Amino acid sequence: MMMEVSEHPERIAIVGASAAGLSAAETLRREGFRGGLTLIGSETLPPYKRPPLSKQVLSGDWSEERTHLRKEEELKALEAEWRLGVSASSLDRDNRRIVLNDGSTVNYDGLIVATGVAPRRLDTSEDLDGVHLLRTMNDARRMRDQFVAGRHLVVVGAGFLGCEVAAVARRIGMEVSLVDPLSAPMIRQLGSTVAREVDSLHAQHGTRIYAGVGVASLHGNGERLSEVRLTDGTVLQADLALVAIGSTPNVDWLRNTGLSLSNGVDCDAYCRAAPDIVAAGDVASWEHPLFKRRVRLEHQTNALEQGAAAAQALLGLAVEPFAPIPYFWSDQYNAKIQVYGMPHEQARTSIVRGEPGSGRFAAAYHLDGRLVAVLTWNMPRETLGLREELRSSLNEQQTVPTAR
Ligand SMILES: Cc1cc2nc3c(=O)[nH]c(=O)nc-3n(C[C@H](O)[C@H](O)[C@H](O)COP(=O)(O)OP(=O)(O)OC[C@H]3O[C@@H](n4cnc5c(N)ncnc54)[C@H](O)[C@@H]3O)c2cc1C
Repeated sequence: MMMEVSEHPERIAIVGASAAGLSAAETLRREGFRGGLTLIGSETLPPYKRPPLSKQVLSGDWSEERTHLRKEEELKALEAEWRLGVSASSLDRDNRRIVLNDGSTVNYDGLIVATGVAPRRLDTSEDLDGVHLLRTMNDARRMRDQFVAGRHLVVVGAGFLGCEVAAVARRIGMEVSLVDPLSAPMIRQLGSTVAREVDSLHAQHGTRIYAGVGVASLHGNGERLSEVRLTDGTVLQADLALVAIGSTPNVDWLRNTGLSLSNGVDCDAYCRAAPDIVAAGDVASWEHPLFKRRVRLEHQTNALEQGAAAAQALLGLAVEPFAPIPYFWSDQYNAKIQVYGMPHEQARTSIVRGEPGSGRFAAAYHLDGRLVAVLTWNMPRETLGLREELRSSLNEQQTVPTAR
């Protein structure tokens, strides 16, 4: 999918005022764009980092201010109009106009979509008090207020988010159950070898793990959550539950606009969805030249890098496709897990440094004999060297195999 980008936009609108949107705005100004710049964001807060929400903010180790991505004066220096606390509700592409939920409109020549994702919900009733989703600072505040030693927390979904919240809750002295239909925590993200380590890490810290079983229903005592029933008949006492079962891209406002929305906003290798529209961050999928397939990442580093790449593409300045080595990290108890590349459930995992069980090791993931990802577990100094090995390997490969 190759297309012409619009020449010299005079007004650029960015929808989604978080990591990707902010990075795009900064890049536009850095690249010399002096036209009108509007950032539209549903949340009322200035851009902040979400990763600490399930870690330092929930544990109370960080103040909220510490999560701010930029200082007030840095935001002011962008000379942008900030429309916070309002959402884009639809897009009129013919007239290049965004309609907001307060009835106002914003015109643009160039549009950057950076609306992120929203947590998926359980089919069963979630409107009981004590049932939480975690995406925003407000969500984190609500949970933190209810994190009290001795209370019972059921975490539904043992991905990164669920595992991180379980770890914080145990540190605080809560009783924690972690439930997931898959056979081990984070197996989809990290494969079975490393998932076994995650499983024993949580078990050692006293989390009860219910793997291979789903949630059948949530029940309340009046309006307050009291128990979670599992599909195998187990009944878990629950004062609180976190539902962390993945997310869906925020694209409803873009429906019926002719944009392709098969996996978030579908873009070409330059983050372009249309001649005058680019997308970045969790909401954007694009053709990754190294992995030779459409990729959509939910990682903060990617949001920052892709925001910059998308802004350059919109200005017609992108000379190369967007081809980052994906990176993410997770903190659970005393484990810092760092991953470069794209681990695959079906990849062969080999331990290349240290020993699993010793609390320090590194792993390499090969798919069809080719290196596709590296992981370190409490080995931060090894991480950059392994990343370089991965980079050379990916660059040498004409095509990175995928099992999809
Ligand atoms: C609790 C938590 C922990 C995480 N931990 C890690 C981690 O350890 N490591 C890591 O790499 N990543 C982590 N992530 C993921 C990381 O935070 C995201 O990848 C990153 O925030 C994506 O940035 P974004 O700008 O694309 O989207 P978002 O940060 O989701 O921002 C999108 C913004 O757009 C707004 N919006 C949505 N729809 C509209 C609309 N129609 N109109 C206007 N505004 C709209 C949203 O309200 C939001 O403010 C974590 C995420 C969460 C929630």
